[in-house]
Amino acid sequence: MLEITNLHATVGGTPILNGLSLSVNAGEIHAIMGPNGAGKSTLAYVLGGRPGYEVTGGSVTFNGQDLLALDPHERAALGLFLGFQYPVEIPGVSNVQFLREALNAQRKARGGEPLSGGEFLKLAKEQAALLRMDMEMLKRPVNVGFSGGEKKRAEMVQMGILDPIFAVLDETDSGLDIDALKIVGEGINSIMRRPDKGVLLITHYQRLLDYVKPDVVHVLAKGRIVKSGGPELALELEREGYEAVA
Ligand code: ADP
Ligand code: MG
Ligand code: MG
Repeated sequence: MLEITNLHATVGGTPILNGLSLSVNAGEIHAIMGPNGAGKSTLAYVLGGRPGYEVTGGSVTFNGQDLLALDPHERAALGLFLGFQYPVEIPGVSNVQFLREALNAQRKARGGEPLSGGEFLKLAKEQAALLRMDMEMLKRPVNVGFSGGEKKRAEMVQMGILDPIFAVLDETDSGLDIDALKIVGEGINSIMRRPDKGVLLITHYQRLLDYVKPDVVHVLAKGRIVKSGGPELALELEREGYEAVA
C-alpha cells in the first residue's frame, strides 16, 4: 500500500533522511520508533508534502501512485491523513466549521457532494463519542486553550470524520495521560484497524503500542531504518535503549 524506497530528503539544505526504505501492506500497522532528532517528524512531513522538506532521492508510492508528484491536498483526497506532533491552533474557526470544511473539501476532490449541516453533525457526534469528546468542545476554536490530550483527541475525531485509507500519526501519544492514551489508542484501532487500511505510527515510547498492536516495529536512526522486527522489538527498546538495540 505504502512503498518508500531509498528516500533522501533535506530540510534547509541539511540532509535529514538518508536512504529510508519501508513498505506497509494493507491491513498493517507499522510503528516507527527512534531517538530525538532521528528524522521521524521529517518523514511524516515529507509524506504529507509540507513545503520546505525537499526530496533529493528515492520514491514513495501509495497504492501504486507516485505520491511525491502530488500536492498535499491531492494526497489527502487519495485518503492520506497526517496527525501532527504539534497540532496548530486556529483562533476564530470552530472545530465543527473546520472539520466540515475539511470533509467537504475531500468529498469535492473525489467528485462527491458536500454533506448537509444535519448529516455532518450526526457524523461528528458519532466520532466525538468514540473519542469521549464533548460536542461543546468541538464548538470552540480549533485547539485554542486545549490541553495536549484534548488536541490529540480532537485530531482523532478529525481522523474518524475523514475516514482515511492511510494514516501517518506523529507522536499521537505525546502529552496524553493514561486514560487519554487508552481512549486515543482505542480510537485508532476502531478507525484504522481494517483489512483495507494502513498506519504508520510514530512514537517515542512503547506505551501506546500496548493499545495499538503493531504488526511491524522499525527503528529510525540518523535518517534511515536501522532495524525492524515484531512488537517485541518495542519492548526491547524500552528496556535497553536505542543505543544498545539499534
Ligand atoms: P524527530 O521527529 O525524530 O525527533 P525531526 O524529524 O523533527 O526528528 O528532526 C530531524 C533533524 O532535522 C533534527 O536534527 C532537527 O534539528 C532537524 N530539523 C528539523 N526541522 C528542521 C528545520 N526546519 N531546519 C533545519 N533542521 C531541521
Ligand atoms: Mg522529537
Ligand atoms: Mg518528531
